Amino acid sequence: MASRDLETFDFVIIGAGSAGSVLANRLSVDGHTTVLVLEFGGSDRSMLIQMPAALSIPMNMARYNWQYETEPEPHLNGRRLHCPRGKVIGGSSSINGLVYVRGNPLDFERWEEGAEGWGYRHVLSYFQRAEARQEGGDAWRGSSGPLATRYGRVENPLYTAFVEAAQQAGYPATKDINGEQQEGFGRMDMTVRNGVRWSAADAYLKPAMRRPNLTVRTYALVTRILFEGTRAVGVGYLQANTEYEGRAGREIILSGGPINSPHLLKLSGVGPAEELTALGIDVVHHLPGVGENLQDYLEFYFQIACTQPITLYSQRSLTSKARIVARWLMRRDGLGATNHFETCGFIRSRAGIRYPYIQYHFLPLAVTYDGKGLASEHGFQAHVGPMRSKSRGFVRLKSSNPRDYPRIRFNYISHEDDWIEMRACVRLTREIFAQTAFDPYRGREIQPGAHVRTDAEIDAFIREKVESAYHPSFSCRMGRSSNPMAVVDPETRVIGLEGLRVVDSSIMPSITTGNLNAPTIMIGRRRPTIFSVSPSLQPRTRAITWRRIGPQRSVECLSSYLATTSGASCQPRELQVNQASATVPSRPRRAGHWVRLKDFTRRVWPLLLLARLMSLGLGSVLSRP
Ligand SMILES: Cc1cc2nc3c(=O)[nH]c(=O)nc-3n(C[C@H](O)[C@H](O)[C@H](O)COP(=O)(O)OP(=O)(O)OC[C@H]3O[C@@H](n4cnc5c(N)ncnc54)[C@H](O)[C@@H]3O)c2cc1C
Repeated sequence: MASRDLETFDFVIIGAGSAGSVLANRLSVDGHTTVLVLEFGGSDRSMLIQMPAALSIPMNMARYNWQYETEPEPHLNGRRLHCPRGKVIGGSSSINGLVYVRGNPLDFERWEEGAEGWGYRHVLSYFQRAEARQEGGDAWRGSSGPLATRYGRVENPLYTAFVEAAQQAGYPATKDINGEQQEGFGRMDMTVRNGVRWSAADAYLKPAMRRPNLTVRTYALVTRILFEGTRAVGVGYLQANTEYEGRAGREIILSGGPINSPHLLKLSGVGPAEELTALGIDVVHHLPGVGENLQDYLEFYFQIACTQPITLYSQRSLTSKARIVARWLMRRDGLGATNHFETCGFIRSRAGIRYPYIQYHFLPLAVTYDGKGLASEHGFQAHVGPMRSKSRGFVRLKSSNPRDYPRIRFNYISHEDDWIEMRACVRLTREIFAQTAFDPYRGREIQPGAHVRTDAEIDAFIREKVESAYHPSFSCRMGRSSNPMAVVDPETRVIGLEGLRVVDSSIMPSITTGNLNAPTIMIGRRRPTIFSVSPSLQPRTRAITWRRIGPQRSVECLSSYLATTSGASCQPRELQVNQASATVPSRPRRAGHWVRLKDFTRRVWPLLLLARLMSLGLGSVLSRP
């Protein structure tokens, strides 16, 4: 083993992904705490990563992606599903779909049930401090943080048709899915700055790399965590086929993500004793929850042919793509500068559910997320899926060799309730696309297909077509030390050991309602200051949730989550709702006309202004030779 002169740092961080990048920045901010970051991937300097519209390319490249696959999934016709994970500076935030969703405020109330200190009032200010929202900050959003977010330009009329159709179907619109009210349909934020992907590395790691106390080593595969008794003291890693050791005077922080973090813990002797001993691994600490409880979102693509040639299908030729790339290279704008997920929705399928759990991403193209399955005609689609699945899987060892990939199985849709939710997703989406807002555009249903109606037909479609939305988590879940399946305590320390934490998306106590990059960054941002939140940072929030009721197409204000500035006394509570005042009858036709009227006014006002100027005689002045 090469010693690199027995290097010792205050902190060693394993993984420069979403959480690792933030931690590297925050832990080294004082200029003298020494931090070593070890990342198996390499540089993110590639147009394929930087150009938002190219998102489906890096997620398929072995250079940037660990390219995991699940074991045959028993409830999905034995299919192996793709499980991409970033292997590059910025981790998965460098190869993801750039969608920025914080989650529902009530997600964090669920977290707090088993992990004190992670309620919405604790985490909100960290979301705000992270954000540099192009559209500006408000009581919920931040505008001066390092993580750039922005809306798309919503130039394609299909984006607005989607939001209008959802309102016609009885759902509310929302001004900001990351603000006061997640529930409803509206615009979607993306992590893009000046037309370029803005990963966690761009926001946090790269600005910190100038600091002399931060060392980042790429192409370094951490193979094990080293212990003295129950204290983690260092890591062994391979770089250019040479073995090194890095020692940590204070702590080792594992930020390898939901597959690699449990894998490395197990390789290092931390996990279910039976599994480890069967492979000849010495048990440092028996922790049965490591790698268990694995969870993910599934989604399918509900695709409709478009009767007008206005979708991104027009851009499929090589010349069109070359034009998009050239424009992006010269001006960092145009179709290359967006992820094309510009409108979205969050709903509940029925009464009796506390807050939304079905997510929609709308795309003016019929294609699979990984870009491999493009429909052969103009089309548009919604990515749809429920986000609170009851199915659980695992990450288990195949061998004790760190280069062997682990066994991954999600047991997707193994719980009967998940089938009920999937069927609801198909039926509710069909209803949205049937609204009049889509009349000018709606062609045939490409998939599932108009013939897919009964439960059995829908189940068959789901079994064959559903895909991962790429949000595994929960495999090192956080909880009280008394919880036998918890892996880290609410301060992110590995239970039963010293000097070791896990800080990444694997520790979420339950999965959030949305994509996971934003909450993972929040976890990383919060960790160094955990439990030292100043009371003045406590948020004041009033997040309203809604539900759709019955065929009369109305929405009802169901409950409010009210957090006050009073810190500890703040509790979520169901409010007494005055039914009469809370019921908002939907007026689909008028809502549609109103949007069109606003659109019309926006387009014609410059002409009206010019006409007015001319009538004032300025026209003759302007037209003088
Ligand atoms: C294809 C794809 C699309 C997605 N789309 C979205 C989206 O649009 N919006 C969204 O919010 N979320 C999205 N996600 C999810 C989101 O990006 C992740 O949940 C989040 O980035 C996870 O952060 P993390 O810190 O837990 O892990 P990661 O960001 O994956 O970081 C882990 C890092 O650790 C490194 N590492 C692991 N093991 C070792 C080791 N032994 N030695 C050295 N280095 C190691 C890895 O190489 C990696 O860089 C997507 C994910 C993927 C893969």
